[in-house]
Amino acid sequence: MPDTADGVANTATTQVEVRRSRRRTSTVSAYRDGDRTIVSIPAKFSRAQEREWVQRMLDRLADKEQRRRPSDEGLATRALELSEKYLDGLARPSSVRWSARQGRRWGSCSLPEGSIRISTRVRGMPGWVLDYVLLHELAHTLHAGHGPDFWALLDRYPRTERARGFLEGHAFARDVGPDEGADDELGDAPG
Ligand SMILES: [Zn+2]
Repeated sequence: MPDTADGVANTATTQVEVRRSRRRTSTVSAYRDGDRTIVSIPAKFSRAQEREWVQRMLDRLADKEQRRRPSDEGLATRALELSEKYLDGLARPSSVRWSARQGRRWGSCSLPEGSIRISTRVRGMPGWVLDYVLLHELAHTLHAGHGPDFWALLDRYPRTERARGFLEGHAFARDVGPDEGADDELGDAPG
């Protein structure tokens, strides 16, 4: 793991609570709890060590979150990178954005212009899952349906099966009930 401290900590909107624990000897941990960030440090840390480690942990958290939650711009850039890497650069969507209005769908692609929307529910999921969702919608700019040609494109991405399993499990855990989660297949706005 890189241990750089050059990330920008966003402390303006975050309240930091430092907890000193006598049980901790050398480990430091940090997590978000609503708009607070809890940083646990060993009781023996000096004030200088506390400052150093709090900053370090805030940087790390921000860095991790940034990678998991790219902006619209970051999302579009990622889509183009994925298109280059797995689809020979053939998928050229007109726009790629997050959307909170995807209902049960993980993403959608409106044809023929090829505007891709990714559900904000995918935000915070592992990057390889987001990549799959992006690739799925990118592939739809080349093949509208879910035929063999479509899946052949997605087979180029090594984590397709794993990502589909992840999303199915996620949908199932959320929707256990009369409605079956299986139709939470990546949704596609009809062309
Ligand atoms: Zn689809």
